[in-house]
Amino acid sequence: MGRRTRTLSEKELVDFEGRKEMGKLDGKVAFISGGARGQGAAEAKLFVQEGARVVIGDILDEEGRKIEAEIQELGGEATYVHLDVTNESNWEKAIHETVERYGKLDILVNNAAIVIPKTSIEERTGEEWDRIFEVNTKGVFLGTKHALPVLRESGGGSIVNISSVAGIAQSMHQEPAYASSKAAVRIFTKVTAAQHAKDHIRCNSVHPGPIDTDMLMASMGSPENMANRLTRVPMERKGTAEEIAKGVLYLASDDSSYVTGSELVIDGGAIVM
Ligand code: NAD
Repeated sequence: MGRRTRTLSEKELVDFEGRKEMGKLDGKVAFISGGARGQGAAEAKLFVQEGARVVIGDILDEEGRKIEAEIQELGGEATYVHLDVTNESNWEKAIHETVERYGKLDILVNNAAIVIPKTSIEERTGEEWDRIFEVNTKGVFLGTKHALPVLRESGGGSIVNISSVAGIAQSMHQEPAYASSKAAVRIFTKVTAAQHAKDHIRCNSVHPGPIDTDMLMASMGSPENMANRLTRVPMERKGTAEEIAKGVLYLASDDSSYVTGSELVIDGGAIVM
């Protein structure tokens, strides 16, 4: 049987071209913690390309303002605010400023986190453990706590929590405090999803493998450790911040409208090894 072809009607052509102009986040307002560099900065840029207005919160003021300026130079709308995710009044102020500036909030990406050089459980100090949990886990809780009322007021929205493959598997090779903090984020995501579906708020986690950012370099310590890490990735390479940003975009946008409490692993296959 020959292939059937037909030309588009004038109306279909207009609709199609119109759709091409539309971004996946048109009209949405997003807040990204830890957006001054790395994956958070890549997410901010992609979100703006897709039509969102974005607020970036970070402790790196100079880098954050640079990302804000880069986006504005390209004609996008972005604002940098100082935010230490461990500080509750910083969160209150940051979310308040977002709503004051852009009128609402639709998307929260809890992305900020820190790593610590790997050591054994016996050598890890209680203070180091607490610090990792304060930033990586309490930071996600505080962001969620202060975003929930405004997301609800906006009629619902999407929260994307950045965890890690370390929060699920490859435990033989993980730093104990970091991996545990990321596992806590994974379950906190599911509790948030279960408790706030009624408010039309979705919540999902993203689990990157080794991604080419300052954090990965800091955690690996040496080129030998990096090469060794890649032997545990079937695709035998690091991922890019942009590859993670595309997954975060899916969960932030209405493309994932029936997805909540779920986890998106983006890791070159690391988790199956
Ligand atoms: P990165 O270090 O480049 O970016 C982290 C950002 O968080 C930085 O801008 C930093 O200033 C910010 N931050 C740190 N502490 C903060 C605080 N107290 N308050 C506000 N901001 C703070 O690293 P990245 O790779 O872009 O990391 C993004 C996310 O991805 C993190 O949650 C990280 O744990 C996760 N992740 C990274 C990798 C990787 O290999 N890079 C792998 C798995 C998961």
